[in-house]
Amino acid sequence: MSHVKTDEALLQVRGLKKHFGHLEVLRGIDIDIHKGEVVAVIGPSGSGKSTFIRCLNRLEEPTAGEVIFEGQQINTKKADIDKIRQKIGMVFQNFNLFSNMTIMQNITAAPINVKKIPKDQAEERALNLLDRVGLKDKAAEYPVRLSGGQRQRVAIARALAMDPDILLFDEPTSALDPEMVGEVLNVMKELAEDGMTMVVVTHEMGFAREVSDRVIFIDQGVIQEENEPKEFFAHPKNPRLKDFLNKVL
Ligand code: ADP
Ligand code: MG
Repeated sequence: MSHVKTDEALLQVRGLKKHFGHLEVLRGIDIDIHKGEVVAVIGPSGSGKSTFIRCLNRLEEPTAGEVIFEGQQINTKKADIDKIRQKIGMVFQNFNLFSNMTIMQNITAAPINVKKIPKDQAEERALNLLDRVGLKDKAAEYPVRLSGGQRQRVAIARALAMDPDILLFDEPTSALDPEMVGEVLNVMKELAEDGMTMVVVTHEMGFAREVSDRVIFIDQGVIQEENEPKEFFAHPKNPRLKDFLNKVL
């Protein structure tokens, strides 16, 4: 699929390394992510996919290398990480909604408390976002009353409420019952079509193939292969990628 991709690098990753003690999880990752681009990240379990995207907004502190967002290095003491995190949205596998808050409160909490947006404006925007993910009628409910697919769509709306420049997804459909995967992927596909820049760690090869502009395969701490999806899946070159695709396809 072709999105409103531009040549402007929104996020530049240079020589990114992350060690946990003696465990070298990321051993030198280099990638540019462009405005409007959708990058799918695949790889075996434990290969460092989560660690990689968590380094992109400093949920993990890189051991070495640079992460540059909108021209500004984010992994330095000087960086205003709170400001940067407002611009880098994140959607997790397990939704991470606040169970003691309504859906509306979940979505408006950060805009009101962090961005100081007036409550009525934040709520109006939240309703628009809920409408966008097909859940306008759920504003007053608590998360426990929603299905997994609905909760994840709320989590996406919550991330969008901060008006991010990029959204990071860490296996957004992995915790869902199979019948709910499609509704979440559809919302993500619409975001992609609207030009949102997205990095998506996923096991959904159909999504990677049909929605992403580029697929990267992480294994043994490095990007072993990257390509546009058609070529990536049709003609994998790296033996480890071939082996991986044989197992998952
Ligand atoms: P993936 O998301 O590809 O499954 P992860 O990034 O979660 O992989 O993990 C990569 C490796 O790093 C695994 O061996 C995991 O056990 C290890 N790891 C992840 N987070 C930590 C941590 N906070 N402390 C120690 N080891 C970790
Ligand atoms: Mg993971």
